[in-house]
Amino acid sequence: MRVGDIELAPLSDGLCKMPQSFYVGLDFGAHKELLAEDGLVHIPVGCFLLRSGGTTVLIDAGLGDVDVGWGRGGELPGALRAVGASPEDIDVVVCSHLHIDHIGWLVVEDAPYFPNAVVRYGAADWQRFVAGADADDRGRQIMEVLAAAGRLDPLDGDMLRIAPGLTARHTPGHTLGHYGLVVSSGEARAVLLGDAVECPLQLEEPDFHTLSDVDPALGARTREALWRELEGTDVAVIGAHFPGLQFGRVLAGTGRRLFSPLA
Ligand SMILES: [Zn+2]
Repeated sequence: MRVGDIELAPLSDGLCKMPQSFYVGLDFGAHKELLAEDGLVHIPVGCFLLRSGGTTVLIDAGLGDVDVGWGRGGELPGALRAVGASPEDIDVVVCSHLHIDHIGWLVVEDAPYFPNAVVRYGAADWQRFVAGADADDRGRQIMEVLAAAGRLDPLDGDMLRIAPGLTARHTPGHTLGHYGLVVSSGEARAVLLGDAVECPLQLEEPDFHTLSDVDPALGARTREALWRELEGTDVAVIGAHFPGLQFGRVLAGTGRRLFSPLA
């Protein structure tokens, strides 16, 4: 995937298998296409590698080499190798938010896994996922190792420049410190939605949300604002858990909008 002069590669760290009850308010009878044979919704653990103007950025850091019951990670190092990148090459890691399936690889064996990277994340996530989390919470421990190593540079505000052509946009609701990322080069644009949109079906069916949304009502307002801005444009759009990590466009429909995967 290229966005103007910027190279953008989706990478999967593994697979989550979510129960139907995770999707609050969704009628699976009308959407059997979402279900795998085991009756669960299989979704990738998405990350993205971006190379722009000599800066290499990893967007989201997967689950790590663990099985957490509802999901299994471990594929990110191989996926990085496949696009010619090593952990040492990463200058910046931006985490869309601090859920464990977006920060898992940041620390391995109590040390930063990306030895040269500064880690950006929404400051508003700190209270819930670190300061207010249990002492044995893995996410908390990861962030505390990075804090002790002086690797953290929190995001506070909106439209924050991360790298040439990469801007972080505050998109709260899924978590309070959630950031989407806007990639732009010349006329070309892509938007990485993180978990602000968990499933492309949230375009057609705006009234369901997921159990992991911290503030579902705020999340719904954020999604609606995003859709309004993106519908009918050429902007390539993707969420961290979209099927097959496939980019698409937001089509303006009659009454309801549609997600149209890019070929
Ligand atoms: Zn999340």
